[in-house]
Amino acid sequence: MIRFTQSGNTIWSVPGDSPKIATADGGVIGSSGITYDNQGRATGLGGQPTESWIGNGYTDGPIDQVVFTPANLATGFATLAGTNPSSTPVATLQPWVPPLATCADKTLNLQCPQAGDLIWNAYQDLSRQLASDEKCSGAALAKVFTKFPNGDANGYPITTASFLSYISRGPRFYNGTKSTMPYGLALYGEGSLSFNLKNRKGNPGNWQVTIKDIVNGSSQTTAITVTPSYPLKTFWQPTFTPPDTGIDPSDNGVNFNNESDFFHETLHGMTGLYDKDIQRTLGIKVSDDTSNISSYIQLNVLSQCPTFKRGGK
Ligand SMILES: [Zn+2]
Repeated sequence: MIRFTQSGNTIWSVPGDSPKIATADGGVIGSSGITYDNQGRATGLGGQPTESWIGNGYTDGPIDQVVFTPANLATGFATLAGTNPSSTPVATLQPWVPPLATCADKTLNLQCPQAGDLIWNAYQDLSRQLASDEKCSGAALAKVFTKFPNGDANGYPITTASFLSYISRGPRFYNGTKSTMPYGLALYGEGSLSFNLKNRKGNPGNWQVTIKDIVNGSSQTTAITVTPSYPLKTFWQPTFTPPDTGIDPSDNGVNFNNESDFFHETLHGMTGLYDKDIQRTLGIKVSDDTSNISSYIQLNVLSQCPTFKRGGK
Protein backbone atom coordinates (compact mmCIF):
# COMPACT_ATOMS: atom_id res chain seq x y z
CA MET A 1 0.00 0.00 0.00
CA ILE A 2 1.33 3.39 -0.94
CA ARG A 3 -0.03 6.72 0.16
CA PHE A 4 0.03 9.49 -2.41
CA THR A 5 -0.16 13.22 -2.10
CA GLN A 6 -2.87 14.89 -4.12
CA SER A 7 -0.44 15.33 -6.98
CA GLY A 8 0.45 11.67 -6.95
CA ASN A 9 3.78 11.64 -5.08
CA THR A 10 4.40 8.77 -2.68
CA ILE A 11 4.33 9.73 1.00
CA TRP A 12 4.66 6.29 2.52
CA SER A 13 4.03 2.69 1.61
CA VAL A 14 3.17 -0.54 3.37
CA PRO A 15 4.10 -3.77 1.57
CA GLY A 16 1.35 -6.35 1.16
CA ASP A 17 -1.60 -4.07 1.69
CA SER A 18 -3.54 -1.77 -0.57
CA PRO A 19 -5.61 1.27 0.32
CA LYS A 20 -9.37 0.88 0.36
CA ILE A 21 -10.74 3.94 2.08
CA ALA A 22 -9.13 7.27 2.82
CA THR A 23 -10.16 8.60 6.20
CA ALA A 24 -10.85 12.18 7.14
CA ASP A 25 -7.73 12.42 9.31
CA GLY A 26 -5.45 11.75 6.35
CA GLY A 27 -5.05 8.06 7.03
CA VAL A 28 -6.37 5.11 5.10
CA ILE A 29 -8.02 1.76 5.67
CA GLY A 30 -6.21 -1.05 3.85
CA SER A 31 -7.84 -3.92 2.02
CA SER A 32 -6.62 -6.08 4.91
CA GLY A 33 -8.99 -4.10 7.15
CA ILE A 34 -6.09 -2.55 9.05
CA THR A 35 -6.38 1.19 9.57
CA TYR A 36 -3.33 3.40 9.19
CA ASP A 37 -2.71 6.93 10.40
CA ASN A 38 -1.40 9.65 8.11
CA GLN A 39 2.17 8.43 8.61
CA GLY A 40 1.38 4.86 7.60
CA ARG A 41 1.38 3.49 11.15
CA ALA A 42 -1.15 0.74 11.78
CA THR A 43 -3.75 1.96 14.24
CA GLY A 44 -6.15 -0.98 14.37
CA LEU A 45 -8.39 -3.31 12.53
CA GLY A 46 -11.21 -1.38 10.97
CA GLY A 47 -13.61 -3.94 9.57
CA GLN A 48 -14.89 -1.14 7.40
CA PRO A 49 -16.82 -1.90 4.27
CA THR A 50 -15.16 -1.96 0.90
CA GLU A 51 -15.17 1.45 -0.66
CA SER A 52 -17.22 1.18 -3.77
CA TRP A 53 -17.00 4.39 -5.74
CA ILE A 54 -18.89 7.42 -4.64
CA GLY A 55 -20.58 7.85 -1.34
CA ASN A 56 -21.58 4.28 -0.76
CA GLY A 57 -20.03 0.99 0.11
CA TYR A 58 -20.68 -2.62 0.83
CA THR A 59 -19.00 -5.52 2.51
CA ASP A 60 -19.00 -8.92 0.90
CA GLY A 61 -21.73 -11.21 2.16
CA PRO A 62 -25.49 -11.16 2.42
CA ILE A 63 -27.70 -8.15 3.16
CA ASP A 64 -25.02 -5.78 4.25
CA GLN A 65 -25.60 -2.65 2.26
CA VAL A 66 -23.90 0.17 4.10
CA VAL A 67 -24.39 3.79 3.29
CA PHE A 68 -21.41 6.04 3.86
CA THR A 69 -21.68 9.70 4.56
CA PRO A 70 -19.42 11.18 1.92
CA ALA A 71 -18.62 14.15 4.13
CA ASN A 72 -16.86 11.80 6.57
CA LEU A 73 -14.51 10.47 3.97
CA ALA A 74 -11.50 12.19 2.55
CA THR A 75 -11.92 10.13 -0.53
CA GLY A 76 -14.44 11.98 -2.61
CA PHE A 77 -12.62 10.65 -5.55
CA ALA A 78 -11.56 13.88 -7.15
CA THR A 79 -9.51 14.40 -4.00
CA LEU A 80 -8.15 10.88 -4.23
CA ALA A 81 -7.03 11.37 -7.79
CA GLY A 82 -5.73 14.88 -7.28
CA THR A 83 -7.72 16.22 -10.17
CA ASN A 84 -9.74 18.84 -8.45
CA PRO A 85 -7.99 19.98 -5.27
CA SER A 86 -10.00 23.16 -4.98
CA SER A 87 -13.31 21.35 -4.50
CA THR A 88 -14.34 19.56 -1.38
CA PRO A 89 -15.37 15.94 -1.91
CA VAL A 90 -19.00 16.74 -1.20
CA ALA A 91 -19.04 19.67 -3.60
CA THR A 92 -17.64 17.40 -6.29
CA LEU A 93 -19.98 14.52 -5.61
CA GLN A 94 -23.17 16.53 -5.73
CA PRO A 95 -23.18 17.52 -9.38
CA TRP A 96 -21.57 14.26 -10.49
CA VAL A 97 -24.16 11.93 -9.02
CA PRO A 98 -27.42 13.86 -8.51
CA PRO A 99 -30.09 11.37 -7.47
CA LEU A 100 -33.32 11.04 -9.41
CA ALA A 101 -36.19 12.81 -7.67
CA THR A 102 -38.15 10.64 -5.24
CA CYS A 103 -41.17 11.18 -3.04
CA ALA A 104 -39.71 8.64 -0.61
CA ASP A 105 -37.45 11.37 0.73
CA LYS A 106 -40.01 13.34 2.75
CA THR A 107 -37.64 16.26 3.20
CA LEU A 108 -37.96 16.98 -0.54
CA ASN A 109 -41.72 17.35 -0.21
CA LEU A 110 -42.48 16.04 -3.71
CA GLN A 111 -45.69 14.49 -5.00
CA CYS A 112 -45.73 10.76 -5.67
CA PRO A 113 -44.55 9.26 -7.88
CA GLN A 114 -41.38 10.92 -9.18
CA ALA A 115 -39.04 9.46 -11.84
CA GLY A 116 -36.90 7.83 -9.14
CA ASP A 117 -39.96 6.09 -7.71
CA LEU A 118 -41.09 4.88 -11.15
CA ILE A 119 -37.81 3.19 -11.99
CA TRP A 120 -37.54 1.88 -8.43
CA ASN A 121 -40.94 0.23 -8.84
CA ALA A 122 -39.83 -1.35 -12.11
CA TYR A 123 -36.70 -2.71 -10.40
CA GLN A 124 -38.73 -4.10 -7.50
CA ASP A 125 -41.27 -5.75 -9.78
CA LEU A 126 -38.60 -7.31 -12.00
CA SER A 127 -36.78 -8.66 -8.92
CA ARG A 128 -39.96 -10.12 -7.52
CA GLN A 129 -40.91 -11.79 -10.78
CA LEU A 130 -37.47 -13.32 -11.38
CA ALA A 131 -37.34 -14.56 -7.79
CA SER A 132 -40.82 -16.06 -7.66
CA ASP A 133 -41.80 -17.27 -11.11
CA GLU A 134 -40.06 -20.22 -12.71
CA LYS A 135 -41.17 -19.48 -16.23
CA CYS A 136 -39.93 -15.91 -15.98
CA SER A 137 -36.56 -16.85 -14.46
CA GLY A 138 -36.23 -19.78 -16.86
CA ALA A 139 -36.69 -17.47 -19.84
CA ALA A 140 -34.11 -15.04 -18.46
CA LEU A 141 -31.65 -17.88 -17.99
CA ALA A 142 -32.19 -19.53 -21.37
CA LYS A 143 -32.59 -16.44 -23.52
CA VAL A 144 -30.10 -14.10 -21.87
CA PHE A 145 -27.84 -15.28 -19.03
CA THR A 146 -26.52 -18.50 -20.59
CA LYS A 147 -25.63 -16.59 -23.75
CA PHE A 148 -22.79 -14.82 -21.97
CA PRO A 149 -19.98 -17.41 -22.25
CA ASN A 150 -17.55 -15.29 -20.25
CA GLY A 151 -20.01 -14.61 -17.46
CA ASP A 152 -19.96 -11.37 -15.53
CA ALA A 153 -17.14 -8.82 -15.34
CA ASN A 154 -15.35 -11.03 -12.82
CA GLY A 155 -15.70 -14.18 -14.92
CA TYR A 156 -18.44 -15.80 -12.83
CA PRO A 157 -21.34 -17.42 -14.69
CA ILE A 158 -24.48 -15.32 -14.81
CA THR A 159 -27.49 -17.09 -13.29
CA THR A 160 -30.85 -15.85 -12.12
CA ALA A 161 -29.48 -16.01 -8.57
CA SER A 162 -26.35 -14.01 -9.36
CA PHE A 163 -28.39 -11.43 -11.31
CA LEU A 164 -30.77 -11.05 -8.35
CA SER A 165 -27.89 -10.88 -5.91
CA TYR A 166 -26.25 -8.14 -7.98
CA ILE A 167 -29.36 -5.96 -8.16
CA SER A 168 -30.20 -6.62 -4.49
CA ARG A 169 -27.10 -4.64 -3.58
CA GLY A 170 -29.15 -1.53 -4.17
CA PRO A 171 -28.91 0.06 -7.62
CA ARG A 172 -28.12 3.77 -7.70
CA PHE A 173 -30.46 5.79 -9.90
CA TYR A 174 -28.99 9.17 -10.85
CA ASN A 175 -30.40 12.05 -12.86
CA GLY A 176 -28.60 11.92 -16.20
CA THR A 177 -29.82 15.37 -17.24
CA LYS A 178 -27.95 17.01 -14.37
CA SER A 179 -24.74 15.01 -13.95
CA THR A 180 -21.49 16.83 -14.71
CA MET A 181 -19.43 13.65 -14.36
CA PRO A 182 -17.07 13.02 -17.28
CA TYR A 183 -18.56 10.45 -19.66
CA GLY A 184 -15.22 8.60 -19.67
CA LEU A 185 -15.76 7.53 -16.07
CA ALA A 186 -18.98 5.76 -16.99
CA LEU A 187 -17.37 4.19 -20.05
CA TYR A 188 -14.42 2.72 -18.23
CA GLY A 189 -16.17 1.57 -15.11
CA GLU A 190 -15.28 1.99 -11.50
CA GLY A 191 -12.84 -0.88 -11.07
CA SER A 192 -9.86 1.44 -10.91
CA LEU A 193 -11.45 4.81 -10.59
CA SER A 194 -8.42 6.85 -9.59
CA PHE A 195 -6.40 5.14 -12.30
CA ASN A 196 -9.10 5.93 -14.85
CA LEU A 197 -9.22 9.56 -13.81
CA LYS A 198 -5.46 9.89 -14.02
CA ASN A 199 -4.97 8.11 -17.31
CA ARG A 200 -8.12 9.06 -19.20
CA LYS A 201 -7.79 6.25 -21.68
CA GLY A 202 -9.47 5.98 -25.03
CA ASN A 203 -10.80 8.87 -27.04
CA PRO A 204 -9.99 12.18 -25.26
CA GLY A 205 -13.40 13.43 -26.38
CA ASN A 206 -15.05 11.03 -23.95
CA TRP A 207 -13.43 12.94 -21.09
CA GLN A 208 -14.49 16.36 -22.36
CA VAL A 209 -18.19 15.60 -22.43
CA THR A 210 -20.32 15.04 -19.36
CA ILE A 211 -23.16 12.65 -18.76
CA LYS A 212 -25.66 15.51 -19.00
CA ASP A 213 -24.19 16.66 -22.34
CA ILE A 214 -25.03 13.26 -23.76
CA VAL A 215 -28.42 12.74 -22.12
CA ASN A 216 -29.64 16.26 -22.90
CA GLY A 217 -28.10 16.21 -26.37
CA SER A 218 -29.83 13.09 -27.59
CA SER A 219 -33.50 12.43 -28.04
CA GLN A 220 -32.91 8.70 -27.78
CA THR A 221 -30.81 8.22 -24.67
CA THR A 222 -32.72 6.64 -21.81
CA ALA A 223 -29.82 5.66 -19.56
CA ILE A 224 -26.04 5.56 -19.20
CA THR A 225 -24.53 2.96 -16.91
CA VAL A 226 -21.14 2.83 -15.24
CA THR A 227 -19.76 -0.25 -17.01
CA PRO A 228 -19.06 -2.25 -14.88
CA SER A 229 -20.26 -0.99 -11.48
CA TYR A 230 -20.81 -2.46 -8.01
CA PRO A 231 -23.50 -1.80 -7.04
CA LEU A 232 -25.18 -0.86 -10.30
CA LYS A 233 -24.91 2.85 -11.06
CA THR A 234 -27.12 4.29 -13.77
CA PHE A 235 -27.88 7.79 -15.02
CA TRP A 236 -31.40 8.26 -16.43
CA GLN A 237 -33.46 10.58 -18.58
CA PRO A 238 -36.37 11.21 -16.17
CA THR A 239 -38.74 12.63 -18.78
CA PHE A 240 -40.64 10.16 -20.95
CA THR A 241 -40.92 10.74 -24.69
CA PRO A 242 -43.06 8.13 -26.45
CA PRO A 243 -42.63 5.54 -27.66
CA ASP A 244 -39.70 4.45 -25.52
CA THR A 245 -37.23 7.15 -24.44
CA GLY A 246 -36.85 8.05 -20.77
CA ILE A 247 -38.61 6.66 -17.71
CA ASP A 248 -42.15 5.56 -18.61
CA PRO A 249 -44.70 6.73 -16.01
CA SER A 250 -47.46 4.29 -16.97
CA ASP A 251 -48.67 1.85 -14.29
CA ASN A 252 -46.55 3.55 -11.62
CA GLY A 253 -43.43 2.62 -13.53
CA VAL A 254 -44.20 -1.11 -13.65
CA ASN A 255 -44.20 -1.50 -17.42
CA PHE A 256 -42.44 -3.15 -20.36
CA ASN A 257 -40.26 -0.14 -21.17
CA ASN A 258 -38.87 0.43 -17.69
CA GLU A 259 -38.32 -3.20 -16.77
CA SER A 260 -36.58 -4.01 -20.06
CA ASP A 261 -34.44 -0.86 -19.84
CA PHE A 262 -33.47 -1.66 -16.25
CA PHE A 263 -32.63 -5.25 -17.28
CA HIS A 264 -30.57 -3.92 -20.23
CA GLU A 265 -28.62 -1.47 -18.02
CA THR A 266 -28.02 -4.19 -15.44
CA LEU A 267 -26.33 -6.29 -18.13
CA HIS A 268 -23.87 -3.42 -18.72
CA GLY A 269 -23.18 -2.96 -15.02
CA MET A 270 -22.75 -6.65 -14.37
CA THR A 271 -20.72 -7.72 -17.42
CA GLY A 272 -18.75 -4.60 -18.27
CA LEU A 273 -19.83 -5.08 -21.91
CA TYR A 274 -20.95 -2.28 -24.23
CA ASP A 275 -24.04 -2.33 -26.43
CA LYS A 276 -22.43 -3.83 -29.53
CA ASP A 277 -20.99 -6.74 -27.56
CA ILE A 278 -24.36 -7.36 -25.93
CA GLN A 279 -26.09 -7.24 -29.32
CA ARG A 280 -23.55 -9.72 -30.70
CA THR A 281 -23.94 -11.97 -27.65
CA LEU A 282 -27.71 -12.02 -27.90
CA GLY A 283 -27.53 -12.68 -31.64
CA ILE A 284 -29.40 -9.54 -32.66
CA LYS A 285 -28.51 -6.81 -35.15
CA VAL A 286 -25.33 -4.93 -34.17
CA SER A 287 -26.35 -1.31 -34.54
CA ASP A 288 -25.99 2.16 -33.04
CA ASP A 289 -29.69 1.95 -32.33
CA THR A 290 -29.57 -0.08 -29.12
CA SER A 291 -33.31 -0.24 -28.50
CA ASN A 292 -33.25 -3.76 -29.96
CA ILE A 293 -31.63 -4.97 -26.71
CA SER A 294 -34.62 -3.85 -24.64
CA SER A 295 -37.00 -5.17 -27.33
CA TYR A 296 -35.27 -8.56 -27.21
CA ILE A 297 -35.69 -8.66 -23.42
CA GLN A 298 -39.37 -7.72 -23.70
CA LEU A 299 -40.09 -10.34 -26.33
CA ASN A 300 -38.05 -13.22 -24.94
CA VAL A 301 -38.11 -12.71 -21.17
CA LEU A 302 -40.70 -10.26 -19.88
CA SER A 303 -43.45 -11.74 -22.04
CA GLN A 304 -43.04 -14.88 -19.90
CA CYS A 305 -43.32 -13.01 -16.59
CA PRO A 306 -46.57 -12.73 -14.58
CA THR A 307 -46.96 -8.94 -14.63
CA PHE A 308 -47.05 -8.86 -18.39
CA LYS A 309 -48.91 -12.11 -18.91
CA ARG A 310 -51.74 -10.58 -16.91
CA GLY A 311 -52.10 -7.99 -19.62
CA GLY A 312 -49.68 -5.33 -18.48
CA LYS A 313 -47.78 -3.78 -21.33
ZN1 LIG B 1 -27.03 -0.21 -23.58
